[in-house]
Amino acid sequence: MEPIMKENYHTHTSRCHHAAGTEREYIETAIARGLTVLGFSDHAPMPFEPRFESGFRMAVEETGEYVSTLRALRDEYADRIRILIGFETEYYPAVFQRFRELIAPFEPDYIIMGQHALGNEYDTAMRPQPPTKDRRILKTYVDQVLEGLETGFFSYIAHPDVINYTPDDEIYAAEMRRLCVRCRELGIPLEVNLLGMRTNRNYPCEKFFRIAAQEGNEVIFGCDAHEPASVAEPGNLAEARRFAEKTGLKVIQRPVLRRPF
Ligand SMILES: [Zn+2]
Ligand SMILES: [Zn+2]
Repeated sequence: MEPIMKENYHTHTSRCHHAAGTEREYIETAIARGLTVLGFSDHAPMPFEPRFESGFRMAVEETGEYVSTLRALRDEYADRIRILIGFETEYYPAVFQRFRELIAPFEPDYIIMGQHALGNEYDTAMRPQPPTKDRRILKTYVDQVLEGLETGFFSYIAHPDVINYTPDDEIYAAEMRRLCVRCRELGIPLEVNLLGMRTNRNYPCEKFFRIAAQEGNEVIFGCDAHEPASVAEPGNLAEARRFAEKTGLKVIQRPVLRRPF
C-alpha cells in the first residue's frame, strides 16, 4: 500500500517560542518514518512598524540563523532526505511588502499561509480561532485569505478551516464554498492539519472538508509538527487517512512549490 505520507511541508522550530526539540531531531524522525521530503515552515518573522512583538514567531533578527542552520543540515543530510526551507505566515496587507523584502535575500523554497490573525495583527482584536457567531469575522477571514492567495506567493493554505464560526448555517457554507472554489481555481491545495487532529481543535472540520470534496479541491496532509515526535506520527496519519476517506477527499503528496521570488 502507498505510504500515507512521504512528504511533509509543515514543520516548526523552537524559534517560534511554542515548539520543542532541535532541527536534527525533526530530521532524524522524518528519516526513521520514511519521509523523502521534510519542509521546514516556521512562523515567519514579521517586520511590523512600529515594532510589535507577536510572541508566536521568530524575531526578525533570527531569520539569517534559521536559514543558515537549515542549509547546513540540508547539505549534511542530502543523501538521506530532501530538506526544504520555507516559512508559514499570515497575509497582512500593510506589512506584506516589507515582509517580502525581508525574506527575499534568503531565497526560501516556499511559503505556506497560516492566517492566525486578521487585519495586520497589531491593529485589530479579530482572530479566527476563538468561537464566534459574528459573520463579519467569517467574511473578513475569507476575504483576507483570498486576497493573500491572489498574490501567487503561497504554495498552500494551512488549516483553511481555522475559522471557528460556530453556527452551522448557510452563511458558513457559502463563505467556505467561496474559499474552496477560488483555491481550486488558483491551484492552491487545502491542508488537513494534523496538529488540530492530534489536539482535538475545531479543525480539521468535517463540514468544511465535505464542501472541499464537493468542489474537487486538492488536499494535503500537514503535520504542523511543534515537536519531533509529531513528524509523520503513525497514529495521527492513520486518523487523517480515515478522515479523508470518510469525507471523500482527493489527497496529494506534494504541492506545486511556488517560488516566492
Ligand atoms: Zn505554531
Ligand atoms: Zn504551523
